[in-house]
Amino acid sequence: MQNRGVPHTTTSPAQRVPGRDRPAVRPALDRGRGLLGPALALIHSGRAPTRSVLTSELAVTRATAGAIAAELEALGLVAVDPRPSGSGRGRPSHRLAVAPGGPVVLAAQLHADGFSVALAGLGGTLGEPVDRPLPRTADPEEVLRAVAEAGARLVAASPRRCLGAALAVPTPVTDSGGRALAAMYLDWPSGTPVRDLFAAAVAGALPGLPTAVANDANLAALAEHRHGAGCGARHLLYVTSGHRGVGGALVVDGRLHTGSDGLALEVGQLTVDPGGRPCPCGRRGCLDVEADPPALLAAAGVTPGPAEPLLEAARAVVRAASHDPVARAAVDRVVECLGAGLAGMVNILNPDRIVLGGIHLDLLAAAPERLPAVVAERCLWGRSAGVPVLPAALERPDLTGAAELAWQPFLDDPQSTAAG
Ligand SMILES: [Zn+2]
Repeated sequence: MQNRGVPHTTTSPAQRVPGRDRPAVRPALDRGRGLLGPALALIHSGRAPTRSVLTSELAVTRATAGAIAAELEALGLVAVDPRPSGSGRGRPSHRLAVAPGGPVVLAAQLHADGFSVALAGLGGTLGEPVDRPLPRTADPEEVLRAVAEAGARLVAASPRRCLGAALAVPTPVTDSGGRALAAMYLDWPSGTPVRDLFAAAVAGALPGLPTAVANDANLAALAEHRHGAGCGARHLLYVTSGHRGVGGALVVDGRLHTGSDGLALEVGQLTVDPGGRPCPCGRRGCLDVEADPPALLAAAGVTPGPAEPLLEAARAVVRAASHDPVARAAVDRVVECLGAGLAGMVNILNPDRIVLGGIHLDLLAAAPERLPAVVAERCLWGRSAGVPVLPAALERPDLTGAAELAWQPFLDDPQSTAAG
């Protein structure tokens, strides 16, 4: 690929002032502004740990990569360490990392058991999450107000500037209207305008902050692709169940496949047992109710305590499967259902990697050979085209994904971080 024509800056490091005051760098970068976003995305996802890697990834001259890194440093987003990185081959190069004290975003997640909030800087790392039970009411406005207020307390306690907020929700959300179409596990009416309600709640607690809302599995898939077990996959299928129901998402060439209105990959509604458990959708045997924590608990005859998180109770069943035949049979049954569902997805989507999160990650660990075998047996191409099935790598992929969503406008246009 040809070098892109961003003239290098003549600004010396001594002239650079962190923050908004960066007059000398701007004229050169105004002409190459389009590369700041790709550069920040590379550093954010750890794919450009040095300036020489950034140079080759962007296919620009060394001087241009230097100017871009300097501008990102001046914006307070990136730290450029001039000490050479001794580990790589070839000529030593400046090290690049996200700025440790740089701005943050507020990541929030709503799920059947409660809600969580955390602050997140660039680089896919979360601050300590705060987990809370849902308010007694199911009223979306009040629930979202509680989320925004918990987030505002985190923001107030942090010295770092907060740029935006985003929320992961366990329901498909329309791209066009920001409506939650099937918040079955939150008891919200279909069509709840969750994007507007979250924006209003955040405006009340943190005025002026841009907001966004998206489906939790979509966001977790994006996070695993950028920072976890999906790195490098071209057609990443992500399937998970952390509370109730089963979520799925597809990341193609680094972008979520959202369908025409954000509703693609509702994998929970695949039928895996026509005579199976009743689903809130009105049918029976959907993957949603055959491969989630309650399905495993029911198969094992376990009733969790009222305050016990479903995922933790289900994980205890998987652990017990090593010595308890009832738990083992429950695991085996859910593994067969999950495998059947995954095979259906593989036949349609032809992914090059499957990453499993939530309780599915534990099921894979408990049946590391059987689960991929079920997928292979039921796939049109059989074992000859076996798809790698890997456990998710991130501790909190939904929250990390919400952070990705909040960061996205600033990854697209890093200079916009200087506004406000
Ligand atoms: Zn269903």
